[in-house]
Amino acid sequence: MLRTQIASWLTRSRRIRLPSRYVADTPQVYLTCSRFSSTSIDEQAIPQQARVVICGGGIAGLSAAYNLAKLGETDVVLLEQGRLTSGTTWHSPGMVSHFRKPALHALSTISARLYKTLEEETGLSTGYREVGCLLLAQTKDRMIDIKRIAAMAKTRNMNCSLMAPSEVHSIVPWVRTDDLEGAMFLPDDAVTDPTNTALSLAKGAKNRGVKILEGVQIQAVLSEDGKVSQVQTSLGDIQCDYFVNAAGQWGRDVGLMSRPTVNVPMHTNAHGYLITKPLPGMDLNHMTPYVRDFDSHILFREWSGGLLCCLIPPVSVPIFHEGIPENSEFLSLPEDPDLFNYVMEKFLHRIPSGEQMEVQQFFLGPECFTPDTKFFFGEAAEMRNYYLMTGISMVGVTMSGGLGQLLAELIVHGETLLGNWSVNPQRFSPQQNNKAYLRERVAEIEGMPFKIGYPFRQLLTARNLRCTTLHDQHVQARAVFEECMGVEIPQLYLGESASEAMVEDIQLGTFYKPVWFDQVKAEYLACREAVAVIDVSSVTTFELEGEMATSLLQTLCANDVDVPVGSVVHSGMLNEHGGYEVCCSVARLKEDRYFIVCPTIQQVKGFHWITRQLPKDGSVKLRDVSGQYTGLNVLGPKARDVLQKLTNTPLDTASFKPACYKELNFGFASGVRAMTVTDTDEDGMMLFIPNESARHVYATLMSAGSEYGIRPAGYHALRWLTVEQFYPNWGVDFDNEHTPLEIGHETAVKYDKKLEFIGQSALLRQQGEGVHHRLATFVMEDHKVDKDLWCWGSEPIYRNGQLAGMTTSSSFSPTLGSMLCLGWLNNTDPQTGQTQVVTHDYVTKAKYEIDIAGQMFPAKANLYPPK
Ligand SMILES: Cc1cc2nc3c(=O)[nH]c(=O)nc-3n(C[C@H](O)[C@H](O)[C@H](O)COP(=O)(O)OP(=O)(O)OC[C@H]3O[C@@H](n4cnc5c(N)ncnc54)[C@H](O)[C@@H]3O)c2cc1C
Repeated sequence: MLRTQIASWLTRSRRIRLPSRYVADTPQVYLTCSRFSSTSIDEQAIPQQARVVICGGGIAGLSAAYNLAKLGETDVVLLEQGRLTSGTTWHSPGMVSHFRKPALHALSTISARLYKTLEEETGLSTGYREVGCLLLAQTKDRMIDIKRIAAMAKTRNMNCSLMAPSEVHSIVPWVRTDDLEGAMFLPDDAVTDPTNTALSLAKGAKNRGVKILEGVQIQAVLSEDGKVSQVQTSLGDIQCDYFVNAAGQWGRDVGLMSRPTVNVPMHTNAHGYLITKPLPGMDLNHMTPYVRDFDSHILFREWSGGLLCCLIPPVSVPIFHEGIPENSEFLSLPEDPDLFNYVMEKFLHRIPSGEQMEVQQFFLGPECFTPDTKFFFGEAAEMRNYYLMTGISMVGVTMSGGLGQLLAELIVHGETLLGNWSVNPQRFSPQQNNKAYLRERVAEIEGMPFKIGYPFRQLLTARNLRCTTLHDQHVQARAVFEECMGVEIPQLYLGESASEAMVEDIQLGTFYKPVWFDQVKAEYLACREAVAVIDVSSVTTFELEGEMATSLLQTLCANDVDVPVGSVVHSGMLNEHGGYEVCCSVARLKEDRYFIVCPTIQQVKGFHWITRQLPKDGSVKLRDVSGQYTGLNVLGPKARDVLQKLTNTPLDTASFKPACYKELNFGFASGVRAMTVTDTDEDGMMLFIPNESARHVYATLMSAGSEYGIRPAGYHALRWLTVEQFYPNWGVDFDNEHTPLEIGHETAVKYDKKLEFIGQSALLRQQGEGVHHRLATFVMEDHKVDKDLWCWGSEPIYRNGQLAGMTTSSSFSPTLGSMLCLGWLNNTDPQTGQTQVVTHDYVTKAKYEIDIAGQMFPAKANLYPPK
């Protein structure tokens, strides 16, 4: 029946299809829910002042309002342009899945706790029910993925059990299982009613004194001295201290109407589901678990006795490219026959009895997506006290309860205990807010969470947004690229012999020894034994100049940067807790001028962190010069010999000592900034060449180095070297939650400078008390590199049989012939749950095992690079 019904519907919809798809269609209204009454404009005039203004009455904004009020901040106004929940929230099917990556897992747990108990406080039910969730695996690799999830779930005391295909029927007898490899059941996963949950939050907020106004549109957000100062609305202005952008798919537009502009890169897609009528004899009830069949791109739950099946095609349909239509309350979109047709086959395959089912409704609604699937949470770089809580696709219901609490903590206490770098708004470059780029990217993004979580998985769409000067040369050398902040970075070079099949295998990914192993090994060996060149042009570079530049840097940097001109110092710029906001190398160019090199991912974050500390009188100037230089990391025992052929300046170690800076001529190029640091402990130099001369220097360098076996190397080889040398990477191994003492960078901290640096007292305190978690290095033992699963990060670490931490990154060391990884170790008293000091003996005098997808591998831990 369902197939015939869909066929006739497809024909009909094809007939009525509109030429300009979705752009300005008249919205249809489907909503029929009991409504909580918010304050209407007639009842109460818009206030002239409030401490916090929230934009958006969806589940995110309402959770922010509720949690702020709960923490005692009641001078809050929430403005909704239409009616509450009329954005995306009203049409969400409301599945609440607990399993998330470590930083985000706590959020879904907080949400669950809140949704479970909210009714007691507000009298409005959220409809929260722990029905459980079944994850199906159709392939061996999907099963590995699921086992990796299970290993992580175990570390968080989450209930979960792996299942054979034959056991699936005991939970959902109507699901086809003959093509499955296995499954996992998570009994604590839940469903909720998103509209009622949001309205219950609204009631809770209003009861505590928050003003919620419907029919008021925010039209501008203004700032004074870099801080939020005023919100202009369709009904008047409100002076305020804080602004929360919880505008869902309108979040980008609200960012653009802010002064200065706040970048919120995201784009809307059409996202939908199919609802069936109940089928007599099919055992579906309100406690039936929901099912995720990622390999088929579908997930389904019980819905009024029938099924609701979400449709996530591998390539989705971006909409509203020209702008979101006015008056988009409770919007539903015209059906897309192709979309439903694609998924129908998958649906009928998984649920054979679906053939007899009758369609109740096809639904397609708008939903926004960011360039990396993750949402935005945290303070915007461009304006202080401007918080983003938007771009939350597919998990907005699951996350909003937790995000609201974190946001309230940030506003009320100025900080929160939970780290959130992976969703920080500052992780994107302004270039990524380009709408054409976003449209192309989101077509791929929607299906990404359904793909197997292979390591280093790269997106294929919207590439080449930012290419370095030598990009064409790398393409010619058959580089495989990875992307960071929209910049294309060579990952490895395939060379001439590599087949197209190999390229496809690389794109596909693996949990085992990768197909690129031999190429990267050869690049690694060139770095260790001869000479190699790594294009590091994507790194962030700033120039800081002015009379007070040194004193400013002394306050910002934990290390002593008041060093002789021509010196390079590695340092962290820390926050008040001693955590790394910026991780950098600082070269002193002149008495009052510095060149600062930071990781690629810190381009926005680093710039704004330093800018916020600049003296108000303009005596120190900061410039982002990242786009002006081509960075080459020339490293290996023969690096200086090769470079010497290009310049008359003596480059031997006596003349150009380690950790020094010089401006040199190389070949025809003048003004090349050379630093004798390589980030890998290999000898060599980091060159920053003015872009116009980069092609010449690169060609000359490669030709001069041919007698030494010079070759280009990519970031995989660099990672192998850095992990081996225990050089952790910001954003991968540590971030703003970790201090130099916790990652073993004590020597990069100087307490006896004339000026106290930010975070100094926190570090002194930590030094006195000892660190409670510590990054360590692990050498895997009894691990067969050709046959066993590899370690890729996020694997649980067990110490003497007790969970003690998690890996962050890994590499293979051809020198040691072993897999290595970096990971965090905690020392928690199993009896009391209290954390204790992690000493050298604690790290080194114990037996370790690393859990890779349920298989335990012994490992040896240390605090120094393994020998
Ligand atoms: C088909 C589908 C299935 C989904 N399934 C799930 C699921 O199973 N589990 C899950 O957790 N999530 C799911 N989601 C995602 C979830 O629904 C969303 O992430 C969530 O509803 C987003 O809430 P929000 O508050 O951020 O946005 P919205 O609900 O869109 O709210 C934003 C509000 O801001 C208002 N606004 C915008 N601009 C202005 C302005 N200038 N002035 C005043 N007001 C303004 C809008 O009118 C709107 O009401 C699904 C989504 C879809 C579409």
